[in-house]
Amino acid sequence: SRYVAVRHHVEGLPSEDDFEVKVAKVRWSPESGEVLVRNIYLSMDPYQLNRMKRRSASHLAVDGIVPGERIDAYGAGEVVASACEEYKEGDVVAGVLGWEDYTLFRPSPGVLMSKLAASDDLPLSHHLSALGTSGMTAYAGLYEVCRPEPGEKVFVSAASGSVGSLVGQFAKLAGCYVVGCAGTNAKVNLLKNKLGFDDAFNYKEEPDMKSALKRYFPDGIDIYFDNVGGETLEAALASMNTHGRVALCGVISEYTDVGHRAVPDMLEVIYKRITIRGFFAWDFLTRFDEFTGVIGHWIRQGKVQVIEDISDGMESVPSAFAALFRGDNIGKKMVKLAYK
Ligand code: NDP
Repeated sequence: SRYVAVRHHVEGLPSEDDFEVKVAKVRWSPESGEVLVRNIYLSMDPYQLNRMKRRSASHLAVDGIVPGERIDAYGAGEVVASACEEYKEGDVVAGVLGWEDYTLFRPSPGVLMSKLAASDDLPLSHHLSALGTSGMTAYAGLYEVCRPEPGEKVFVSAASGSVGSLVGQFAKLAGCYVVGCAGTNAKVNLLKNKLGFDDAFNYKEEPDMKSALKRYFPDGIDIYFDNVGGETLEAALASMNTHGRVALCGVISEYTDVGHRAVPDMLEVIYKRITIRGFFAWDFLTRFDEFTGVIGHWIRQGKVQVIEDISDGMESVPSAFAALFRGDNIGKKMVKLAYK
């Protein structure tokens, strides 16, 4: 069984050379309580970079990744052997698996693993995107953290990405005015012409983010869904309206340590009574079925488009992961391993 490991701790921008494909023996007969899954889709998630650093984010929330060792990651696959009553051979599952061909897991409360219904009519890949953690993050971050009201003005960064593309569409469904920023003109076109954003712009073509936001939001921003941090967060705060809400979802521009770290103007926050709330999708784990149930309904009704960017084969994992930090992906980045 092949797996992808980091060769060493990763600092700065990740590149293909930071990774290697290794081989490990699989224990084909699970022990009591264990389940063996053949992985079909592997999720590429920006937060993994923080786990790869020498001083990983483990002191905050997640375990560090050890060079040379397997990497646990979200994925979807098929049960090939089970010594656990809840799962049988042929079941299709989505949850915490790994960047590897086969994963042996032990179901436990608090670890996300869903068994998909045989009647499931949506593509399996959607369980890594809109029906997986991206959907849960977008739904919880927008509806639970920001509580949008019709007519409010919403700004989304990394708007063509997996989370951002859903946030913008969800905000439109809530009756908001939505503007997104993204890093290429093709992404901007997608937001405006396919995903129903009211407006969008290429932030790489804007010499000054503060004046760009003043232009796109002449009446100010009520909600900022932040996926990137850095200068974009500082600029958004300068355009926020009184009682504005900021959902701090991710600060990808700061993960690579090459970008500018946001220094929010706290007087701005005080005078405008802005709420800035960091949140973690896993905090909403108990409501996963509720959120993804609603999202699934919207997808079937054609109200939400799911954008996915799928690479092929284990060898493509390093470049697929690095793509997230080069802005090479459009929508949910994942790798397909096996065919189903
Ligand atoms: P995306 O699909 O959005 O992929 C990452 C995108 O970020 C890239 O395509 C790129 O788009 C943009 N980007 C990369 N580097 C920079 C940079 N230096 N400055 C600005 N934009 C950059 O990933 P996800 O949707 O999976 O994740 C989006 C954010 O949400 C991340 O910060 C992630 O860590 C966070 N997250 C948080 C969760 C939580 O529980 N709080 C859960 C899941 C994700 P572009 O071309 O537009 O620059």
